[in-house]
Amino acid sequence: MGHPSIKDRIENTVVAAPWLPDLVESRFRVRHAVLLLVAVCLSMTAIATWEAWNSRQYHLHDKEVAMSNLAQTLASQARASIKQADTLLFTLVDRLENDGMDPARIPRLQRLLSAQRSELPQLHGLFVFDEEGRWVANSNGTDVQGANNSDREYFAFHRDHPDRGPHIGPSIKSRSSGEWIMTVSRRINHPDGRFAGVALATIYLSHFLELYDSIDMGSNGVINLIADDASIIVRRPFKESEVGTSLANGPLFTQLLPGASYGTATVKSYLDGVERVVGYRRVEGYPLIVFVALDKEDVLAGWRQETALSAGILLLLLMFLGGLGYRLIRFMKQQSHIQSVLLDAREKLIEVNRSLELLALEDALTGLSNRRQFDLFILAEMGRARRTQTHLALLMIDVDHFKNFNDRYGHVAGDECLRNISAIIQDNIKRPGDLPARYGGEEFTVVLPGTDYVGAFLVAEKIRRAVQQANIEHKESPEGMVTVSVGVCAYDMASQHSPDDLIGAADKALYVAKASGRNMSVIAN
Ligand code: GH3
Ligand code: MG
Ligand code: MG
Repeated sequence: MGHPSIKDRIENTVVAAPWLPDLVESRFRVRHAVLLLVAVCLSMTAIATWEAWNSRQYHLHDKEVAMSNLAQTLASQARASIKQADTLLFTLVDRLENDGMDPARIPRLQRLLSAQRSELPQLHGLFVFDEEGRWVANSNGTDVQGANNSDREYFAFHRDHPDRGPHIGPSIKSRSSGEWIMTVSRRINHPDGRFAGVALATIYLSHFLELYDSIDMGSNGVINLIADDASIIVRRPFKESEVGTSLANGPLFTQLLPGASYGTATVKSYLDGVERVVGYRRVEGYPLIVFVALDKEDVLAGWRQETALSAGILLLLLMFLGGLGYRLIRFMKQQSHIQSVLLDAREKLIEVNRSLELLALEDALTGLSNRRQFDLFILAEMGRARRTQTHLALLMIDVDHFKNFNDRYGHVAGDECLRNISAIIQDNIKRPGDLPARYGGEEFTVVLPGTDYVGAFLVAEKIRRAVQQANIEHKESPEGMVTVSVGVCAYDMASQHSPDDLIGAADKALYVAKASGRNMSVIAN
């Protein structure tokens, strides 16, 4: 039988506090808030880093494209400038090969060269040398009898190479004017193909440098015009010492040009070790390469500034978020602490309540349930019996001649006797759902749920006999010992409707037992 024990019933009467949120749940929430905060900060940092990286790649790529375009433009410019001079050389060579270098024609040739030179602003001069390197004619109109250029690179080149194409030699300082010039030359042949001399056009390096200097290349940018043999023809920024320097071991010749005749890349300079974003392109029709490069630091300077600014903003945002999150989490922790204190208090309150309830429902003398507990219990059990259509029995036990006992043995002994009888009653009730109680004075009652008349009568008799067998001396009783009378009543759904009806019926049966001589159990009719 699953009847609730007194303890269970007491615990059920303790009011729960549903308004107190669960402590575990609140700690869980704090942990979640911390995780969320960390996740937000981390993802913001990750997004910002990703953006910065993307922007860096974009900046580099953007400048690579710009360098590629610039290389193409400068290659076209170099080609045009050189082509103009080279066209003059081509016709000059053709004329000299057909007409020969007859001294009589020289003054006229000299005038022609002069006229042609003044047509092209980039042209420093036009020269003709014979097979020994002697000056035959020049555009300056000066008579330089006896001057010899057989020591120049271009002279030796044409003398040793039958090739008829234009040759671009290393830049030199003009013997005639002292200025830095680029040399473009072609070989003159005798009719039988033997070497007859060299036609030379010289172009001011300043023609290129003026253009190169007008282009914004940052503090460390470079523009190089380089010969096929890797020697520098012109370099911006211009340093005399660097003219003719070989770049054969640099990345342009070792890595880039073997792969493609034009392109773009980020490489470390062979000359100054600076890392640069470069563009390069071969000049069409001439053994030249244009190489332009921006310092990577310059390229990324704008990006750095931008990134530093957004990093600063991000940092401020993170600090703000962190501060806010810290306060929120502290607040949540405080709340959780308050909750734990409240829960502790609730536990203690429940404990105190439990003791109070026990005190309030227990009879102090016998330790049995008191009248109050009996009233609550019988009401509940009657309801249950009605709902489940089960039996419910009640015993009313009264000590016989107890007034006399008190008078003879005193109140202290009377109390002791009552305690003994309550222990006997308790010993003879076996079901956990049964409730023995002190009804008042020397009257006891036992509620027997799920028990009919017969069962209840058996329990009554068991108790009555046990009291008798305890043989507690009572000289004032005809029996000579303490005895009890019992009124037995069982719940009858047809006639009894309230606890009072049941108690009344048991009382009547008890009265009959008393009237019939005491020390007996009587069932209510
Ligand atoms: P009956 O056989 O008819 O029941 O006779 P009785 O003397 O028991 O009847 P009555 O109800 O008149 O007397 C009850 C007595 O029980 C009165 C009182 O002195 C005694 N009594 C009631 N409560 C206590 C108690 O807590 N302690 C003690 N010692 N005696 C009590
Ligand atoms: Mg009485
Ligand atoms: Mg009595």
